[in-house]
Amino acid sequence: MVARTVRHGVLFLVLAVVVSATEASPPQSVPAALPTPSVVAGLPPAQRVSNKFRNLDPEYHRASLWIRARSLIIGGTWLVGERRVAALPTVAPDVPALHHNSSRPTVTWIGHSTVLVQLDGVNFLTDPTWAGRSGPFGGFVGVRRYTPPAIAFDDLPRIDFVLISHDHYDHLDEPTVRHLASQFNPRFVVPLGIKKWLADRGITNAVELNWGESVKIKGLTVVCTPAQHGSGRTLADQGRRLWASWAVLGSKRFYFAGDTGYYRHFKDIGEALGPFDLAALPIGSYTPRALAKPVHMSPEEALQAWTDLRAAKFLGIHWGTFELAREPYDEPPRRIAEEVGRLHLDSDNVWILKPGVTTAW
Ligand SMILES: [Zn+2]
Repeated sequence: MVARTVRHGVLFLVLAVVVSATEASPPQSVPAALPTPSVVAGLPPAQRVSNKFRNLDPEYHRASLWIRARSLIIGGTWLVGERRVAALPTVAPDVPALHHNSSRPTVTWIGHSTVLVQLDGVNFLTDPTWAGRSGPFGGFVGVRRYTPPAIAFDDLPRIDFVLISHDHYDHLDEPTVRHLASQFNPRFVVPLGIKKWLADRGITNAVELNWGESVKIKGLTVVCTPAQHGSGRTLADQGRRLWASWAVLGSKRFYFAGDTGYYRHFKDIGEALGPFDLAALPIGSYTPRALAKPVHMSPEEALQAWTDLRAAKFLGIHWGTFELAREPYDEPPRRIAEEVGRLHLDSDNVWILKPGVTTAW
């Protein structure tokens, strides 16, 4: 009965997405400037048309309605059963070391796009989700998580701030941000539009930025940088809240790509703010290609983005956690390894970490 309810919920979501496709690709017109653009990093502020944010690429368009409908409904085998997946092997984190560390730059992949970063004695999380199922109604419907979070929520060290890339359910999980707010009262650093979403839930310790704007937190400079993606949690709010990537600059330089297709913005960010010491880049959910390419990079594109950013180390994220994509769950790291070999890159600099492993950078 529950499974059936869930499937009906999923079917509803699919129909909602397909219906929403009819409003995709509005006509290109002269974008209106936002009231408070403040370019601090040589990066253009996001523009919006008819209250919807636009990507930088003037040629950008989502896959056609036909491709989305065919892929989601005719090819939607996930409507009638869960696909073959297996939990990734995880490593028990060294919790005392994470709690006592006040100087060593470290990174710990917790799963999906959730990364715990320690830099200059400051602890922050990217797109935190401890959800067992990613979707609306508190996760009652949505995609199942098959690799559990590598760190128990109660084992987290103090969290000083949280970066959110965009409002999709697998990146902005309501129960998780509520839990973080009550446990640590961290500063939420978010793209335009998400501050109000948080405030509506009683979370007021938040600052929202447009692309090219920055804020100082505990000595670190946090810069909102572009991404090529979209946003929306319902039919009514498609494109209303901005999507972004983030640069965090201290004694070392960290970059978090959020969700994004491949575009020139990586080169622009690398020129404006690089070289980076470490870049966390998504390597999963790139299939079916016709549908995903505008908004999700392939593993090969992620490695190109890493080069564009002028980053020393690569960390692959956004794979092996939720049943989001059609590619086999273990394909992204295999394709990364093949591309590293083909391009004769130094594999020591390309990290595919087990969830829970803490690495210095
Ligand atoms: Zn997304």
